[in-house]
Amino acid sequence: MRALQLVSDRSLQLVDLPEPDAPGAGEVQVRVKALALNHIDVWGWRGMAFAKRKMPLVVGAEAAGEIVALGADVRGLKVGQTVSMYGALTCGHCSNCLKGRDNLCENVGGVLGFHVDGFARDVLNMPERLVIPAPEGVTFEEAACAGITFSTVEHMLFDNAKLEKGETVLVHAGGSGIGSAAIRLAKDVGATVITTVGDDEKAAKAEALGADHVINYKTERFEHMVRKITKKVGVDVVFEHVGVDTWQGSLLSMKPGGRLVTCGSTSGVSTQMNLMQLFQRQYKIFGSFGATIRNVADGLEKMGRGVKPVIDTVVPLADFNAGLERLESRKVFGKILVKF
Ligand SMILES: [Zn+2]
Repeated sequence: MRALQLVSDRSLQLVDLPEPDAPGAGEVQVRVKALALNHIDVWGWRGMAFAKRKMPLVVGAEAAGEIVALGADVRGLKVGQTVSMYGALTCGHCSNCLKGRDNLCENVGGVLGFHVDGFARDVLNMPERLVIPAPEGVTFEEAACAGITFSTVEHMLFDNAKLEKGETVLVHAGGSGIGSAAIRLAKDVGATVITTVGDDEKAAKAEALGADHVINYKTERFEHMVRKITKKVGVDVVFEHVGVDTWQGSLLSMKPGGRLVTCGSTSGVSTQMNLMQLFQRQYKIFGSFGATIRNVADGLEKMGRGVKPVIDTVVPLADFNAGLERLESRKVFGKILVKF
């Protein structure tokens, strides 16, 4: 079978590997149909000194496929189903796993495609627990955006920030994979969405996606525009993943009691904080990393009723590298998919 391996920094190789054995007890065999690219793929591909991993490593951190075989004792899934896969090897038996807090697993065995072999291979066996069926009508490309993209946003907006109908949310970088998903999912619950983008072409796309207000952060200070748009009140929730470049402005954009949720720091990790501002304005700040298995299922359910991920481009497996370069360049609007 085909597999795409990272052999050294920025170097990928398409190789021929033996197919896996029949799935064992509690496992299902999945034929991979589509992958979605994320910044975690870019970090892994560039090389990350602190990541414990062995090369060559099969890449691919987010994927969907079709179940082709069931191991013994598998009852909840069927051959032929379209499925998303949860990309971290959680244990399933620690107290956090048992409470459904999968992303706080105490014995996690690594992230697929980053620490351990990932999804960029024709066939793999997965524990049944980590395989989530998609509703009828959800395509492989769409389902490929559930394991990280939609689920991360679900976890941020709804588990952590508890965004509700009628509230206002500031979504940074609305053209990014998670930014575009956040616009869709926030609009779906009836929130007002303000988003930032870096050029006019993306602004038009963000508007078409349903954003109520779009700010070009290259030509306007977003925190000033947010004050203007909200008539000096501020937003209820800030969806952060930019980091140091936007942090201060994000805090200034919130109303008293506002909630900031962050899952990333692409522009830098260290910043200063005014603690008086934090407690006097009663801000709540949430760090969010990954998602729960339920978040994946909830994202798929929403896709099933029409809340679709935004797809920027679909590339063949041979162009995985070009897809990563495109993601790294930030010229994207939505997700880059790799078709198998
Ligand atoms: Zn666990």
